[in-house]
Amino acid sequence: MNGPLTAQLTKCECCPRMCRVDRLAGQVGFCKINADIRISHAGLHYGEEPPISGTRGSGTIFFPGCNLRCVFCQNYQISQEFKRFHTQTLTTAELASEMLRLQDTGAHNVNFVSPSHMVFQMADAIDVAKGKGFVLPVVYNTNGYDAVDALRLIRGLVDIYLPDIKYLENGLGKQLSGVDDYADVIPGVLREMLDQVGHLKMDEDGIALRGLLVRHLVLPGYLENSRKCLRLLAELSLDTYVSIMSQYSPLYKAGDYPGINRTLTEEEYDQVMDYAFDLGLENAFIQEMESQKHYLPDFSKEGPFDPEESMTDLPVSGLSASE
Ligand code: SF4
Repeated sequence: MNGPLTAQLTKCECCPRMCRVDRLAGQVGFCKINADIRISHAGLHYGEEPPISGTRGSGTIFFPGCNLRCVFCQNYQISQEFKRFHTQTLTTAELASEMLRLQDTGAHNVNFVSPSHMVFQMADAIDVAKGKGFVLPVVYNTNGYDAVDALRLIRGLVDIYLPDIKYLENGLGKQLSGVDDYADVIPGVLREMLDQVGHLKMDEDGIALRGLLVRHLVLPGYLENSRKCLRLLAELSLDTYVSIMSQYSPLYKAGDYPGINRTLTEEEYDQVMDYAFDLGLENAFIQEMESQKHYLPDFSKEGPFDPEESMTDLPVSGLSASE
């Protein structure tokens, strides 16, 4: 039996694509996933920002499929090519059990990765898990292309919003992620998230408890886009926590796109960091340039994240500039 929110998938409007297909009847829209709960991987992950991974790891649950088509996706095996890789189909109760299992392993949180097209199945599972003793913060780790109405329906179930802000130029979103209106959608999404959970709050050990942490991946050669994204965050609030990421690698199809077929230079990253601080965005997590070499997940393996490499090559190793 489907949970109350999953039941809404008869006319899917859970992301801004608004495909309106009947996923409960087995139809699929742009994300290529019907109403089944499918996961690609669940396990501890040490490569997120320090407040998310902490010392014991973040309990990640990866969903296959995606509502974007980023040509540089580092998770392309499961976002775009998931039919070639093993996925598990779970019931709502089984997904809730997976959350409880991650809690038992000592995870600081349960971190749903790419949840935009699974938002209602996820929400129903959180509800069930809470009824069975689940108490950890829930992280919603998204590309940012979410439907504000769907986010309103899950209000109270997510503790930490971890969205990307990829573009504030629709042309760039179209060219690199196959989406027409990312720049129109993302401001409302971030406002809704901030309204629901406020700014990031951490415990005395620096572990995130609740709030908004926005990620921005700096793309080589597109620094004006980065400046626009940072200006939007500054307008949202100068207290916004932002993770400015240097780890871009020309993966998946990026080699075919002149301009982004290389890594970022240190000078480019420094320019973006300086701009953030000039704007007054001081709650910024910065990343070592070596993180471009960080371990890339391989979802053809049972453990896609090598624990040793994940521990030694944390993608985000900086601390808040205000500390
Ligand atoms: S979640 Fe999938 S089916 Fe639903 S609107 Fe988005 S892309 Fe379309």
